[in-house]
Amino acid sequence: MIQSSLARAENTKQQSELQNLTALSFAELTNAVTERGLPKFRAKQIWSWIWRHGVTDFQDMNNIAKPVRAELAKYFVITRPAVSRRQQSSDGTLKWLIRLADGQEAETVYIPEEDRGTLCISSQVGCTLTCSFCHTGTQRLVRNLTVDEICGQILLAMDELGEWPSGNPSRRLTNIVLMGMGEPLFNYNNVAEAMKIIMSGDGIAISKRRITLSTSGIVPEIARCGVELGVNLAISLHAVTDTLRNELVPINKKYKLNTLIDAVRNYPSLSNARRVTWEYVMLDGVNDSPEDAKALIKLISGIPSKINLIPFNPWPGSQYNTSKPDKIERFAAIVLKAGYPSPVRTPRGSDILAACGQLKSDSVRLRARERA
Ligand code: SAH
Ligand code: SF4
Repeated sequence: MIQSSLARAENTKQQSELQNLTALSFAELTNAVTERGLPKFRAKQIWSWIWRHGVTDFQDMNNIAKPVRAELAKYFVITRPAVSRRQQSSDGTLKWLIRLADGQEAETVYIPEEDRGTLCISSQVGCTLTCSFCHTGTQRLVRNLTVDEICGQILLAMDELGEWPSGNPSRRLTNIVLMGMGEPLFNYNNVAEAMKIIMSGDGIAISKRRITLSTSGIVPEIARCGVELGVNLAISLHAVTDTLRNELVPINKKYKLNTLIDAVRNYPSLSNARRVTWEYVMLDGVNDSPEDAKALIKLISGIPSKINLIPFNPWPGSQYNTSKPDKIERFAAIVLKAGYPSPVRTPRGSDILAACGQLKSDSVRLRARERA
């Protein structure tokens, strides 16, 4: 009994010492393969098995000779994060609580819609920022997700949705939004690496036009993101004055509204066909007046924009209420009249706490119960 658990521990240790290939760019994979004395073309084959076919076992790579497969398995693994909980909402939304190698957890949400399927992925465990309306920001433990942990969320969703081989015209996972836990621009390098892998044409091949990065406004990284990745940009605006935004989105004290607006104005390739999304959480009596709507129009004037109005999703202990529907409608009408599309985001998966700003709350509660 003791021996077998020791053997298991040893086995797990060995596994964790092997290099996970889902963390590597194509250039890094080529290096890793050639360093082991294998020819370059093997990298191309392995890349295709991982990113086009979703294979996780070298034994399934049938265009690679058996002894080479065995050799690969000595040094490398192809793993996904473990799923500690999977929930399905009555509206079809799927939420995975993933358990990472160090025992930390993060969440991924799949939202099916008529014309698309969007995967909302996390970039950090928790978030160092403390936006007053967001539950993720109340979590103490925070760390960046690694490249394979970011890619792994997409891989495991594709496994479950039956998306292999990738690139199928009737794919169910069409869009990716970096709107889960964490501030993606505080983990820019890993997020960028992961998105380049996911965009790669001979892999999953989701185009930059179908990826949206949402940020609370880390101004210096916005330009870099535009130039290097060219993905769609969403800004968590939520307030139109520095005074209120300092309170709601405290990073505003460091990067003030005027610098944020300038950075967005200069974001490459914005056009009416490719607009920036301004996310605006509707908080009852706080930021939802017609005056706020008018000030918002003025603030973003001249920038190709879409305003995404998000009714506040409450969480246990939150200090705000959701704006009344007629207030939201009035706000939306003012913005729309000024020429900006103003869709109201329907909360998805709120019965499983998968809606914006609710992520992580369920697992935190679960652990509290477990401790009791
Ligand atoms: N950290 C990034 C991305 C994750 S949050 C950012 O802040 O942009 C994704 C979106 O959900 C953001 O616009 C965020 O402001 C919003 N959000 C957070 N808490 C919310 C809540 N309780 N109700 C509605 N939206 C919320
Ligand atoms: Fe972090 Fe975004 Fe939540 Fe703010 S809204 S605390 S930046 S996850």
